[in-house]
Amino acid sequence: MVELSEPLENYLKEIYEIESINGTAKVTDLIIAFQVSPGTISKALERLESLGLIDRKNKRLRLTDDGLRIAERLVRSHRLSERLLTDILGIDWIRAHEIAHRLEHIWPDDILQRIDEVLGFPKTCPHGHPIPGRLEIHGELLSKAKLGKYKIIMIIKEEEWILRKAEEFGLFPGKELTLKNSSNNEILIEVNGKDESIPIMVAEQVMVDGT
Ligand SMILES: [Zn+2]
Repeated sequence: MVELSEPLENYLKEIYEIESINGTAKVTDLIIAFQVSPGTISKALERLESLGLIDRKNKRLRLTDDGLRIAERLVRSHRLSERLLTDILGIDWIRAHEIAHRLEHIWPDDILQRIDEVLGFPKTCPHGHPIPGRLEIHGELLSKAKLGKYKIIMIIKEEEWILRKAEEFGLFPGKELTLKNSSNNEILIEVNGKDESIPIMVAEQVMVDGT
């Protein structure tokens, strides 16, 4: 398999993650996610295309089978690294996500396999994102859900401010909540026996499933 630079690996992984949440990835999604110039992105995409790892049609991007294999391996490595940091080392889920960005590139296959074993083959990362192949995610955004009872499936974007807010309101994967009211700016939920008003920008990042 080709040796890719870290930035190229990161682009493949981002395409995978955008595809799994939104269905298709666009060039503009990558420009926003990495805050780089269109020129930088298009060079990287040309390289990935010439290696046969992505297809480009109009502005849409698709991983080829080879691209998917590399992306899945990286995503698995990232999510298992996070679990190692939170579950074994007791690191909080914000730092775990940041450090996993570095660790995901370094593990040889046999060590990654060993990490997986030690962790007991987890189905998701600490933020609820599935280890590739282990779980089908069915859910909806808390911001768009009808009133009723739900279970939290995942925090979608693992950005620091979002994870801090999720923590503040006690919104963790696996938690149950009742959606009591919703408006354009905020929603009212009951979680952990308390009523909380959640800004819509936070609710847009929480995926839930009806219980
Ligand atoms: Zn995660």
